[in-house]
Amino acid sequence: MTLPFHYGIIPSGWIKMPYFSKTSLERLASCNPLLQKIANEGIRYVDFSILCGHRHKEMQDKAFREGKSTKKWPSSKHNSWPSKAFDVAPWPIDWEDEKRFFQLAIVILFIALEKNIPVRWGGAWKGFPNRKGELNDLGHFELLENH
Ligand SMILES: [Zn+2]
Repeated sequence: MTLPFHYGIIPSGWIKMPYFSKTSLERLASCNPLLQKIANEGIRYVDFSILCGHRHKEMQDKAFREGKSTKKWPSSKHNSWPSKAFDVAPWPIDWEDEKRFFQLAIVILFIALEKNIPVRWGGAWKGFPNRKGELNDLGHFELLENH
């Protein structure tokens, strides 16, 4: 696959290929193999961390309490085993820099599309960018049904 670096969509000029930390790999291991496939290809193009894969009940309760999830156990896609969702962030993480979350999303969605893996992004729940007031979960990706 060739990503369109020359369009300037994706930052280029890395000194070395990015790779996942041990923690990211552990979290990724709790995800559906299709999500693992996407992430393992994505890391070749853009550096990012896996913040969350599977959430067991305690983790989901905590995420709900802290407002990081709108869903109660076990209705989040993070609650299935293996997880049908992951949360990622461009590395180094800067929550204020939304542009990099969009860049990462382009890479992930591009790979998912190419591999014919139906994925939904938390930045576009209905397939187009979220409207004002809708939950914007720019680091969240999940498999659509049947996976
Ligand atoms: Zn999520």
